[in-house]
Amino acid sequence: MNREVALSRLKSEDFDLLVIGGGITGVGVAIDAQTRGLKVALVEKNDFASGTSSRSTKLIHGGLRYLKQFEFKLVNEVGRERAIVHKLAPHLVHPDKMLLPLIKDGNYGYLLTSMGLSVYDILAGVEGNDKRKMLDKNEASSMEPLLRTEDLEGAGFYAEYRTDDARLVMTLAKTAWREGAVLCNHIEAKEFHYNDNQKVCGVQLRDVKSGEEISLSAKQIVNATGPWVDLLRDKDHSKKGKQLFLSKGVHLVVRHERLPVKQTVYFDNTDGRMIFAIPRGRITYIGTTDTPYEGGKEEPGTTKADVDYILEAVNQMFPSVKLQAEDVESSWSGLRPLIHEEGKSVSEMSRKDEIFDSPSGLISIAGGKLTGYRKMAERVVDRVVQQGAFKTKASSTATQELEDAAFASYAEVQALVDRLFTEYPKLLPDFKSAEYLVHNYGSASESILQAAQKIELPAELALAAAEVDHCLQNEMTLDLLDFFERRTGRLYFDILSIPRIRQVVSMVFAKFYGWTAAEIETQEARLDEAIDRVKAW
Ligand code: FAD
Repeated sequence: MNREVALSRLKSEDFDLLVIGGGITGVGVAIDAQTRGLKVALVEKNDFASGTSSRSTKLIHGGLRYLKQFEFKLVNEVGRERAIVHKLAPHLVHPDKMLLPLIKDGNYGYLLTSMGLSVYDILAGVEGNDKRKMLDKNEASSMEPLLRTEDLEGAGFYAEYRTDDARLVMTLAKTAWREGAVLCNHIEAKEFHYNDNQKVCGVQLRDVKSGEEISLSAKQIVNATGPWVDLLRDKDHSKKGKQLFLSKGVHLVVRHERLPVKQTVYFDNTDGRMIFAIPRGRITYIGTTDTPYEGGKEEPGTTKADVDYILEAVNQMFPSVKLQAEDVESSWSGLRPLIHEEGKSVSEMSRKDEIFDSPSGLISIAGGKLTGYRKMAERVVDRVVQQGAFKTKASSTATQELEDAAFASYAEVQALVDRLFTEYPKLLPDFKSAEYLVHNYGSASESILQAAQKIELPAELALAAAEVDHCLQNEMTLDLLDFFERRTGRLYFDILSIPRIRQVVSMVFAKFYGWTAAEIETQEARLDEAIDRVKAW
């Protein structure tokens, strides 16, 4: 994806559809519409996935908790979508078994959990070995020796998937681009343009990097701005009826040695909320909170109360670990754009997506989940096609091959990790580094290793230089933080690697963009701020 090409097309062409917002919802809509034959542009005011779509629990899951709210249709849809997304991007969406410990007098008893997980499997179409198993107390504590035992009654063991939300957005963005859509980051939609019939027919855009204004015409416009949806509805004078309600969710990161869970554990806290502890490479991350939020949307931040809440829950479930605030090496917080429901608590509000139609023709989409992005996009584009009276093909995204995902099966992903680990011992000193590369870049991994082999630097730095070059050439990576936070996830999952490689990464950026010394300083300062932010509360 090339930003200069994108800018020049945004300035000179008209489009069938403009999508505002480069999170999972927006890029999902862009692919669906472009592959049906519409001419699509997408603008994102910050970096792709910089909103909620890089701040989730990073699971592609059927939403077991929604069973409690009797949302059978939702569980059925997202449950089946899990399998489709796994098939489309097997390097990014990994099968992950979950352990659900059952505690005496907890939220659910043995029988209810057993029945609930069976219904969950049926609704989601789970088959074979992946079907739920019920474990007795001894089996549960040998599966996870860290669990408290005094009131442990057993556990449920069932299948979900783990992903990297920001990488999934990037893969979808690149696929939409490959199919002919124009996508551009750091472009803000400022105002709507209307025709004589008061129908929305374009948008005033601002290039956040240069300050330049662009007037863009589009026959249809979709507002996919997540937590910002109501701001744009307001600009369109259509914020009437249902409105958004924002709920903040925080995750904390500790070294895996400090919370060495053997697999993901999903447990109930004393207040009835559910908490995940998810092992991932050299760390384990834990969360999440679910609290009403009304502050600034860009960086909701982590507070001491958030940290205390999560650590207390973890220490109760795994009493021997005794986690302290000092163990937390990184954190992130995101905003769930929920649809407000009178009289319901945050946890009870539905996570279903909803489309808002404005009299001007603006189509806004909010709510939903990462997991259900494809179906959500299909519904939005159906609406666009109907409203715009376009003649198009049917949606084909269920079988559309994604960029960097040329794998026929998950076994092929694992085989690639094994082969690269064997063939590139200097660049990939341990198995986890091979996994990291393949899980991030899929079928593009080997070209990064080949480029690294030609760079005369110590192995770790050569690989970092090749990796950043790949992101600069292919992934519209503008700032150091885009690379460290969203292209690689290092800010969260490997923050200790940043001091080791940042000088080389910064040099590659500076050379690629011709940065001055002052620009390098500004970029470095923003990275430092982010490193401080993820540990400040
Ligand atoms: P966003 O990702 O927020 O995208 C909206 C984009 O619009 C932003 O990037 C923003 O910069 C841009 N934008 C705003 N205004 C403008 C403008 N004027 N011009 C241009 N661009 C603009 N779902 C799951 O399936 N699995 C999970 O494990 C999971 N865990 C979650 C945990 C937490 C704590 C949270 C908060 C959510 C979780 N979700 C999960 C839900 C999921 O993350 C969200 O539903 C999804 O990411 C929302 O994506 P979006 O594209 O609608 O919004």
